[in-house]
Amino acid sequence: MVAVMSIWLITLVLAASLTSSPAVEPQQEKAHHTREGFRNPWPGFQRHGFLDFLKWQWQRLRGRSPQKPKTYDMKWVENDGRALKGHRQSLVITWVGHATAVVQIDGHTILTDPIWSERCSPVSWAGPKRYVPPFPRLEDLPPIDAVVISHNHYDHLDRDTIRKLGNGPIYFVALGVKRWLRRWGIREENIVELDWWQRHELNGLTFVCVPSQHFSGRSLNDTNRDLWCGWAILGPTRRVYFAGDTGYFPEFVEIGRRFGPFDVALLPIGAYLPRWFMRPVHMNTAEAAQAFLDVGARYFLAIHWGTFDLADEPLDAPPRALMRAADSLGIEREQLVVMMHGETRVFSEKPARAKED
Ligand SMILES: [Zn+2]
Repeated sequence: MVAVMSIWLITLVLAASLTSSPAVEPQQEKAHHTREGFRNPWPGFQRHGFLDFLKWQWQRLRGRSPQKPKTYDMKWVENDGRALKGHRQSLVITWVGHATAVVQIDGHTILTDPIWSERCSPVSWAGPKRYVPPFPRLEDLPPIDAVVISHNHYDHLDRDTIRKLGNGPIYFVALGVKRWLRRWGIREENIVELDWWQRHELNGLTFVCVPSQHFSGRSLNDTNRDLWCGWAILGPTRRVYFAGDTGYFPEFVEIGRRFGPFDVALLPIGAYLPRWFMRPVHMNTAEAAQAFLDVGARYFLAIHWGTFDLADEPLDAPPRALMRAADSLGIEREQLVVMMHGETRVFSEKPARAKED
């Protein structure tokens, strides 16, 4: 275990020395821009550094973190993708696992944070491994119109998956992330890079890059050099909010005020323990339930759980905790969409918002 950890660290350091290209030009008038990159501008945000990460890993090694089962009775659907081809007109969402979903909205097919790889890691032989296989398989998907990326962490921005998707889709990314896609062969004209609150229209769909409270980095020397975000996807009849990876922060209300109500909010519910380390960057289920009320959506679709083991809570714990949190905030059970991996759900109700602004 220690040997694996040290090889892991050496790899990160080596990767660090290979990736020092110039950062995005800072725009000092924006509170989330800094000279070196970006920051979370909200009062009370406390950043944890690499030493805190080591402290957490040390606590894990010393057995001070709760013991977890080695296996889980996780069920999944071996979705062959056929159902996705028949529903181009309504709102249909398939959860592949972690933060990866296939969102079919107003005739368009969009992927969120696509990762089909076996591990989320800079190397293929080490790092967190998936517990559940990804369905539908990449080759069984209908043509992908767009991909939205929340940030550059390995479990959200996966090189091998991006290479396989290639130059078919248009990629929506936050400031700084474009350089990774360019490096992996994605053409300039296929990438839309935006700052928070900026928007871009594509064939009648509007993509808005919205704030999130998180951080970024793919090695030890590029912390927060690229921006992180969520996405509001606004169609002529349907609206979806993809929160990406985020701690609880004050701007959920503003996202809802500007673009809600949403038909579906895809919100992260996993990787919340230990709280002292995770709170700034990952919501627990009580916070996710509150975020759902803040943004205003008809359905809460739970993501970022049950796929990669990234934190101290058992992999299958978040949905149960979410039910309790939702009950205590008066959220109806029918509003919670906790899917099996690979499951497709058709949202056939009337649109949440009657007309465009
Ligand atoms: Zn992340």
